[in-house]
Amino acid sequence: MQPKIWLSSPHMGGNESKFVNEAFDSNWVAPLGPNVNGLEKDIARFLLPENENNIHVAALSSGTAAIHLGLILLGIKAGDEVICQSMTFSASANPIAYQGATPVFIDSESDTWNMSPQFLEKAIKDRIAKGRKPKAIIPVHLYGMPAKMDEIMAIANQYEIPVLEDAAEALGSHINGKMCGTYGVIAALSFNGNKIITTSGGGAMVAHQPELAEKARFLSTQARDPAPHYLHSHIGYNYRMSNICAGIGRGQMEVLPQRVLQRRANFEWYGKVLNDTDAIQLLKEPDGYYSNHWLTTVLIKHPVITRETIRLALDKVNIESRPLWKPMHCQPVFKDAPFYGDGTAEKLFENGLCLPSGSNLTDEERNRILTAIRAVFS
Ligand SMILES: *Cc1c(COP(=O)(O)O)cnc(C)c1O
Repeated sequence: MQPKIWLSSPHMGGNESKFVNEAFDSNWVAPLGPNVNGLEKDIARFLLPENENNIHVAALSSGTAAIHLGLILLGIKAGDEVICQSMTFSASANPIAYQGATPVFIDSESDTWNMSPQFLEKAIKDRIAKGRKPKAIIPVHLYGMPAKMDEIMAIANQYEIPVLEDAAEALGSHINGKMCGTYGVIAALSFNGNKIITTSGGGAMVAHQPELAEKARFLSTQARDPAPHYLHSHIGYNYRMSNICAGIGRGQMEVLPQRVLQRRANFEWYGKVLNDTDAIQLLKEPDGYYSNHWLTTVLIKHPVITRETIRLALDKVNIESRPLWKPMHCQPVFKDAPFYGDGTAEKLFENGLCLPSGSNLTDEERNRILTAIRAVFS
């Protein structure tokens, strides 16, 4: 058996161990310390280079923790409704349930595969008519492709509903230069092992208001009030990132721009070598959109060959590929949640496939992938 080719695997830049060793040498082996502060500054500078003091970052233990704290800071309580993109990873929606609130799922549109502004507005009007105005909106930038944020923000502003942006897959993506992660009042980033950069496990909450980031730091370290004894006036969480993980993150931030270009080069390559078949369609960027192309995703349009045919053929030669996210409104755990849509996400799920997209793919691995896909169609 040939070695495994992964969908997306960690790719170190080189300086990660330097930052981690500094943490050991100074005994900052704690959920606080210079790497955590440094990583927060690095992320702020990356998201808003011209004005890094206008964006505030709290480094956390995961992207899921960032979404959970974001909902808490937006005041989401039991019985509330929160609008969420249906086609996404379950971590976008689970924190809604942590709060005892109900998700209202919105279908995708076919240009970006993300939240349909049309069904978003329809849902808001309908929930308001039912006396249940949604308390927040969670759009997601799937696979690095920005959602239609200009349209979504205009609707959110019109109805005065705050946006919590799930940018877990989209660090480095933007629309006409405005970075994903800077649209919502609050945004979530993830540094899980399979994301474009990793801290082995981690995430961050991003906010425009400094008080929100400050509160996230407070809640993520057990909500300890200033007192010599342990004094609590809020329910706290253990969600802070450790100084060791943040050291990995600082090294990874140095190579993030390079990682974006490498992932985009994978997409370009797939486009070039697969364009002789109309049976495989890549998701292209709309005008002005810039995707980090975290994963290259394709739709299979063939009378006989399905995405499962290809997935199983790749699996046989030890190459990992994966169906697109199964929509949340089709998940057993969310079967009772309201849904607004026309079947777009379900169709994407049926025909869509994620191809190996690591920034560390070698030419030899690329050749193996292409040979295996060509064999299916020959
Ligand atoms: C990875 C991911 C998350 C969760 O991030 P973790 O760091 O794994 O908790 C949330 N939303 C989306 C869309 C993701 O891909």
